[in-house]
Amino acid sequence: MEERLKPMDAEQLRESAHRMVDFIADYYKSIESFPVLSQVEPGYLRKLLPDSAPDHPESLQQVLEDVQAKILPGVTHWQSPNYFAYYPSNSSIAGFMGEMLSAGLNIVGFSWITSPAATELEIIVLDWLAKLLNLPDDFLSTGPGGGVIQGTASEAVLVVLLAARDKFLSRIGKSSLNKLVVYSSDQTHSALQKACQIGGIYPENCRVLKTDASTNYALSPDLLNEVISQDISTGLVPFLLCATVGTTSSTAVDPLPALATIAKRNGMWFHIDAAYAGSACICPEYRPYIDGVEEADSFNMNAHKWFLTNFDCSALWIKDRKALIQALSTNPEFLKNKASQANMVVDYRDWQIPLGRRFRSLKLWMVLRLYGVQNLQQYIRNHIELARQFEDLVSQDPKFEVVTPRIFSLVCFRLLSPDNDGDKGNKLNRDLLDTVNSTGKIFISHTVLSGTYILRFAIGAPLTEERHVNEAWKVLQDEASKLLATIQNN
Ligand code: PLP
Repeated sequence: MEERLKPMDAEQLRESAHRMVDFIADYYKSIESFPVLSQVEPGYLRKLLPDSAPDHPESLQQVLEDVQAKILPGVTHWQSPNYFAYYPSNSSIAGFMGEMLSAGLNIVGFSWITSPAATELEIIVLDWLAKLLNLPDDFLSTGPGGGVIQGTASEAVLVVLLAARDKFLSRIGKSSLNKLVVYSSDQTHSALQKACQIGGIYPENCRVLKTDASTNYALSPDLLNEVISQDISTGLVPFLLCATVGTTSSTAVDPLPALATIAKRNGMWFHIDAAYAGSACICPEYRPYIDGVEEADSFNMNAHKWFLTNFDCSALWIKDRKALIQALSTNPEFLKNKASQANMVVDYRDWQIPLGRRFRSLKLWMVLRLYGVQNLQQYIRNHIELARQFEDLVSQDPKFEVVTPRIFSLVCFRLLSPDNDGDKGNKLNRDLLDTVNSTGKIFISHTVLSGTYILRFAIGAPLTEERHVNEAWKVLQDEASKLLATIQNN
């Protein structure tokens, strides 16, 4: 007879988890030996794994051997020190400890009663982070607002849009949905467009305002004013303005104080997306980039990007929590309990899309406690300094140019086309991106600004040091020289 399944036996857990920690620690030790960008072809894994699940148990050893041989080749190593693509997604020992504890307790904290500590720690830790960012007191839990951890910035902007939509519709009538207009720049993350699609905002009422190099790709308040006036004159209702601090393409910073004034004058909800750059604002010298947040209705930053908190952990603060709760709350019999009915507690299920929620605040709490504010500030400053050094290297090479001013830890640059031809220049940089990434030595990504193809070098992986940046630059220079030589020979 087979042994009965024991899915959670403390001693087996101890043994297996120790082995898994060893496996992960060894992974980190050897992380530089893998190609940063996975080099597998689509569908590679189906050829390597059986068609159906095993009838009988296999050992952890067998599974780990498969992870090593079959899974790791299909992993892109976001934690590699040679990872410079998109934006970073930090892992850390503190974040990992929080993640482990969260997985260990495995609570589902949708209402206060389902694990009071989960709700209360989240409130406290988001108040801590709000104070660290010097957010206005209105965002603290002690007032009418408060913070909540969402999975992603996309969920954050979606719940904000739903709250703003319903606040407006309760005033002007449900049949006016077709009148609500959303404003953002063409650099705003596509998460806003998705939120509009889900939230039923009419596609013709989504104003995506053009930006260009004259404002370093920041939203122009004059243009915004003009478009709002036109909309009002045709009977439309401006209801949501989304500004970004640190856009995804080039870290542009929208002029918050001017935009806040416009939003206020027109009675609009003002949301700030600081998903990436928000982390930098824990340093007093970068905090001015979010000046104007005092007038915002909601503010979001991803602790899982550049704040050493393992994915996922997106911090959202809102000034009027009632608006969020009114848009998202339900009250089914099976969830009723004394504390909720008496209105004595926060029930975070009413602040988000799903019902179930993980104990994510543990990660953020661990990061803040195990590292402390000064180390975290130093961590950010170091990456920004490395980016400044990389920017210098690019500027000193006449074959390249820095395209937009570097503000945080992203450098936007390109290889110059020898014959100054725009299309050929775009192809040259596309080719450079492909060849560089296929070396497996580094991974960078791209964007297009005003029709120009641009390479993005984003520093922010926890293991990245000066030597990695210098070596990455050498890879870029070598591959560029090879490409230029083939052009000259043709
Ligand atoms: N906003 C900005 C400025 C971003 O850079 C990103 C992702 O890079 C997002 C939103 C979307 O983030 P998430 O994956 O958390 O939804």
